[in-house]
Amino acid sequence: MTILAQNERPADDGLVASGQRGTVVLRGVSKRFGSTTAVDGVDLTIPGGSYVVLLGPSGCGKTTLLRMVGGHEVADAGDILLDGVRLNDVPAAQRDISTVFQHYALFPHKTVYENVEFGLKMRRLSPDERQRRVNEALAFMDLTNLRDRLPKQLSGGQQQRVALARALVTQPTVLLLDEPLGDLDRLLQLRMRVELRTLQRRLRITFIHVTHNQEEALAIADQIVVMQNGQIRQVGSPQAVYRRPTNLFTASFMGDNNILAGRVASVDGDGILLECEGLRLRARSAPEPVVPGQAIHAAIRASTVRVRQEAAAGATLPPNCVAARATFVEYLGDTVKLHCQTASGLALVAKVPEQDPSWQGIREDETDLMLEWDEDDVQLLTS
Ligand code: ATP
Repeated sequence: MTILAQNERPADDGLVASGQRGTVVLRGVSKRFGSTTAVDGVDLTIPGGSYVVLLGPSGCGKTTLLRMVGGHEVADAGDILLDGVRLNDVPAAQRDISTVFQHYALFPHKTVYENVEFGLKMRRLSPDERQRRVNEALAFMDLTNLRDRLPKQLSGGQQQRVALARALVTQPTVLLLDEPLGDLDRLLQLRMRVELRTLQRRLRITFIHVTHNQEEALAIADQIVVMQNGQIRQVGSPQAVYRRPTNLFTASFMGDNNILAGRVASVDGDGILLECEGLRLRARSAPEPVVPGQAIHAAIRASTVRVRQEAAAGATLPPNCVAARATFVEYLGDTVKLHCQTASGLALVAKVPEQDPSWQGIREDETDLMLEWDEDDVQLLTS
């Protein structure tokens, strides 16, 4: 099928092959709006054929960055390259990059067919070629039966498929998606994110997807780019960003972390001893070298905290272990979140699987608990 032609490869040759088309490189890219620095010196390489998600809170600059890649916003500084070619001065329509805009931006008075055909008309393709490609794109996105409808006669999910067909019909090397699931209800979001990922695997083109939704980013991305205040704070696989945040912002933004402030007490061949808010912690390693006395933060993911219903035996507990009581047992279905407090008033959260017997029978503010975690699960945040 022609829509697949740009990067069509045999199915088993490795998705993100290094010579694959669609590699986007950003070098020192910045953008200001008046006194606001929306994007601040971003360096990033997006491998061809990968699914990359720009993730961050509202206003962190992810849409502006996406718009600069698409040619809908001009960078004040830096270079934007696609497969080694500098794009800064190339108009949007000539970039070989398509965008699915936030809220889809379909033409309300054009039919599904006309919406999908629009980009091909702009490119002055012959009527025959347009017809062939539009029909193919409609079939590909399962929209043939809806071709004569207006956007207002479609559901949110159908409108999204039209926006995708319209973007893909021009056979781009890179597809940009700005909050593509934001307008859909939760169940449809869950379904469409699987469909987007499946579509990207079929097409083998680069997808760059913007969202503020952590779960969506974890579910869909090959690489997550975490942004704050116009800058990149961490780039990594979903597992790396979730399990191994390297800085305070990423650890807080990804959620469900116990974050404690403290100092490095000692460093030896076996690991790092920390004193944090009255607790002794032991960590296996740090993302960069640390020295005794250094101020740090430590993150312990709530799901790595084990819970035992017993009172502390003896006055001194080993590192990574503390006595507490649950102040609130929050039942979430698949998991149960135990909001706990130590005798000194430190708040800690443990998240256990619903099937795990450890939370059964806990009485809030009454049952003595021991909370424990492994040194591999103490993540040092050095910035
Ligand atoms: P959201 O998730 O809310 O869309 P975002 O991370 O995509 O946010 P941007 O839309 O890129 O953030 O905005 C980054 C910053 O630049 C914000 O402070 C925003 O107010 C500002 N900004 C964006 N576009 C413009 C504009 N056209 N004029 C002035 N300021 C702008």
